[in-house]
Amino acid sequence: MKPSPLRIHRPKTIENTLELLAAHASDGKIIAGGQSLVPVLNMRLAAPENLIDITAVDGLDGLTIEGQEITVGALVSHRRLERDPGVASANPLLGEALRHVAHPSIRNRGTTVGSIAHADPNGEMPMILALTGGHVRVRSLRGARTLTADELNVGPLETSLEPDELITEAIFPALQPGQRAGFDELARRSGDYGLAGVGLIMSTDNADAVASVDASRPPVSGTAGKIAAITGLKAGFVSVTDTPDIIELDQFVSGTPVDRVDTIVDAVASAIKDFIDPEGDIHATADYRRHLTGVIAGRLLKRLSRQNSTRGASALSGGQ
Ligand SMILES: Cc1cc2nc3c(=O)[nH]c(=O)nc-3n(C[C@H](O)[C@H](O)[C@H](O)COP(=O)(O)OP(=O)(O)OC[C@H]3O[C@@H](n4cnc5c(N)ncnc54)[C@H](O)[C@@H]3O)c2cc1C
Repeated sequence: MKPSPLRIHRPKTIENTLELLAAHASDGKIIAGGQSLVPVLNMRLAAPENLIDITAVDGLDGLTIEGQEITVGALVSHRRLERDPGVASANPLLGEALRHVAHPSIRNRGTTVGSIAHADPNGEMPMILALTGGHVRVRSLRGARTLTADELNVGPLETSLEPDELITEAIFPALQPGQRAGFDELARRSGDYGLAGVGLIMSTDNADAVASVDASRPPVSGTAGKIAAITGLKAGFVSVTDTPDIIELDQFVSGTPVDRVDTIVDAVASAIKDFIDPEGDIHATADYRRHLTGVIAGRLLKRLSRQNSTRGASALSGGQ
């Protein structure tokens, strides 16, 4: 099928974009990379009369790392974010998750902000925004506001954005000293949406982490040869919750030395399996997704415990 008839607007400025959004609030839609919206239009699951194409808008393609924040403009593609060395250094979790988003050609066109606005519970980046404690900046003719991931995500494919609002940028915090982070998922084929996916951020008391990605080396000793202890753990999920809900798991892990992580894996996996709420479909039953999520979380936890620095996980994961 093809989209129903529509008019395409191509503003060049943010102000003009906001005027168009206000004028077409009831019958207009923003299009960025089109990687989610075009299939929706082609299947006529949506039939806006006006498309506001933001790809020529000045000032939306910034990617900056300042202080403790990675600021991602609305036109930054998944691929650009994935391959940026500064981003990899500030928070390797982003690149690690992005390598699981679709195929490289889709990541070349699709934007991370578009993915966050689309709010697909199968999408990696809405969850990563929530797990990192990120937020989005939003503008309309009525003014500007900031929304945390929690405030933005209302339900599957549903956000709290008003029809006249544009997300100008998403802000992901950098990892803090002593933190390690990783993402993994299982998909039936490489590039498919994951059947289940897990992101973890582990905090440790080893703030003087050595920059190494060699997982085969023994658990790192922290200051003065002391084995690092885990001080916190939080997890987010792909395809097994309706919205990017985050679980804090500190009570199961706090004080555990990283070389004793085997003693807490079962408790963490069990808490996660109780927390999620997967649904069955033609690809996998709900029970299978629940089981899979526990297995992925356990493996990821072990991998993070072996990791020698805040930088290591991305070198050890799959994706393309
Ligand atoms: C075959 C295939 C496989 C895919 N697999 C995955 C996958 O595994 N994981 C995954 O996460 N995604 C996957 N995607 C989706 C892909 O990541 C999209 O790029 C992304 O979801 C949307 O980005 P976009 O720029 O293409 O947005 P568009 O398709 O242009 O827009 C998506 C929605 O966001 C809105 N929007 C876009 N930008 C803004 C903005 N700045 N402010 C407000 N609203 C905005 C649009 O109005 C629309 O409702 C897949 C897509 C395809 C076609």
